[in-house]
Amino acid sequence: MHLLGETLQETFTRKGITRRDFMKFCGVMASALALPKSTADLIARALESPKRLPVIWLELQDCAGCSEAFLRTPTPTVGELVLDVLSVDYHETIMAASGHAAEAAKQASMAAGGYILVVEGAISTADDGGYCCIAGKSSMDIIQEAAKNAVAIVAIGTCATFGGIPKAAPNPTSAVGVMDVIRDKPIINLPGCPVNPVNLSATIVHYLTFNRLPEVDKLLRPLFAYGAKIHDNCERRGHFDAGEFVRQWGDEGHRKGWCLYQMGCKGPVTFHNCPTVRYNNGTSWPVASGHPCIGCSEPGFWEMKTYEPITLYEFAPPEQFPSVEKPSREINPAAVAISGTAIGFITGAAGAIAYNALTNRSGHQKPEIETEEAEKSDHSDHT
Ligand code: SF4
Repeated sequence: MHLLGETLQETFTRKGITRRDFMKFCGVMASALALPKSTADLIARALESPKRLPVIWLELQDCAGCSEAFLRTPTPTVGELVLDVLSVDYHETIMAASGHAAEAAKQASMAAGGYILVVEGAISTADDGGYCCIAGKSSMDIIQEAAKNAVAIVAIGTCATFGGIPKAAPNPTSAVGVMDVIRDKPIINLPGCPVNPVNLSATIVHYLTFNRLPEVDKLLRPLFAYGAKIHDNCERRGHFDAGEFVRQWGDEGHRKGWCLYQMGCKGPVTFHNCPTVRYNNGTSWPVASGHPCIGCSEPGFWEMKTYEPITLYEFAPPEQFPSVEKPSREINPAAVAISGTAIGFITGAAGAIAYNALTNRSGHQKPEIETEEAEKSDHSDHT
């Protein structure tokens, strides 16, 4: 954190973060946001601004995994660099103050307004919110009070975005996500279990640089991080296309790094940048370590059967394609010419439809996860 009166550059020097490291971080942020490399200078200027962005960070029905993910990044930490340009006025897990002093700091910050509200964890709505109370207030009252003077809300992790594990059937606390209870504020959702710290940092950096939140999809997820399916960038995709699947844990395919679709991988229906950004400073991610994607950035993922293959609508693995057989009759050249034209036309049309679907040219598509939750989650009124 900043010492009083210290410039950001002095803070970095004290922490052993060189100018080169700082510029490298700005470059990583530019590429995470899918912006040109030249934007790194713009980001650097925004981060060096003496103006500090106040932040109130709430933890509600959660496991603190998102806070952990953000704070446990290696040095020079992505999280630290961003925390150095923020004024985190309230975060009950990491702040030194506790009890009345902590609540007083939050009240002062809320009264001043103009802060970003980061929310981690679901909101309990059953029995007047009595299942999640902090300082004598229910999570519903806490979020409504804190949202009032916030300039924007960043919901992190799948609990704060879609209800997450607390919402799993039978959902005894009637847990919901932030966008289900706050409807009059700009909200951005960063689902994932936990949130990827790079995506949180990039969202904050985007706000600091351009004074607005990044562009989002129907579920309020930023397109820079959730604009493509995991399957489209997966390092095992070549094996999917070749029909090479792991069939059993530890079999030959598993040892050779083949596709995990048959083991229940949800990569084909999950929008997230895990394959490109990865976790733990870009070290690895679940599929790279041999475990199928569980779809943790999608609504209702907690109800999906982890190890059962998901139904695919847009494309199918090659083993489901009809087999290629030798022609059983003699070939009539005239018939071939007519059929070829017809097939060419159909193929071209099908290709155009597939291209539009896969590139979202005809609008962003909601993933086809067959759960009740997914159906309920069309929040087009937010876009
Ligand atoms: S099904 Fe999963 S493991 Fe296979 S290519 Fe797609 S994302 Fe990768």
